[in-house]
Amino acid sequence: MITALSFSESEPYYELKGQFTDTQTRCIHYHTELDIIALKFKCCQTYYPCFQCHQENKHPTVKYCQQDLDQGEKVVLCGVCKSQLTFKEYLNAGNYRCINCESRFNPGCELHYDLYFDMKNKENNKDITGDISCINSTTSKDNTSTVSAPTVKLADS
Ligand SMILES: [Zn+2]
Ligand SMILES: [Zn+2]
Ligand SMILES: [Zn+2]
Repeated sequence: MITALSFSESEPYYELKGQFTDTQTRCIHYHTELDIIALKFKCCQTYYPCFQCHQENKHPTVKYCQQDLDQGEKVVLCGVCKSQLTFKEYLNAGNYRCINCESRFNPGCELHYDLYFDMKNKENNKDITGDISCINSTTSKDNTSTVSAPTVKLADS
């Protein structure tokens, strides 16, 4: 099993962590032909193939709020062409395809948006899972530095 992938192409350097079964970001939890995206988590600024892989970190998930997405933050990674997409580009007018390489994405991911994104906002700063949603970025920075581990290039375990 692969536990970390790294890519540094034209985009800013970024990390991918999780329990990968291949280099197109399929993981042990989601690995159909269409499961080729990874999502960047706000709390650790790291891409994971799914929320279950992220839970291995044992820290609460901080969700993106509408404002982050409106600002064009890149939050989705296409596992095939390795390009980073904004949420809007990912939606691609409902085509479920990468705007760069046209690989097909899993439309079923739509059902899980609330695990990553705080689309409805405001009132509830905590949801039923106890995860923190949409907090001001200035107050949430502190414990992020402890999360980052050295990146390994294609480390098999
Ligand atoms: Zn995190
Ligand atoms: Zn996973
Ligand atoms: Zn692509």
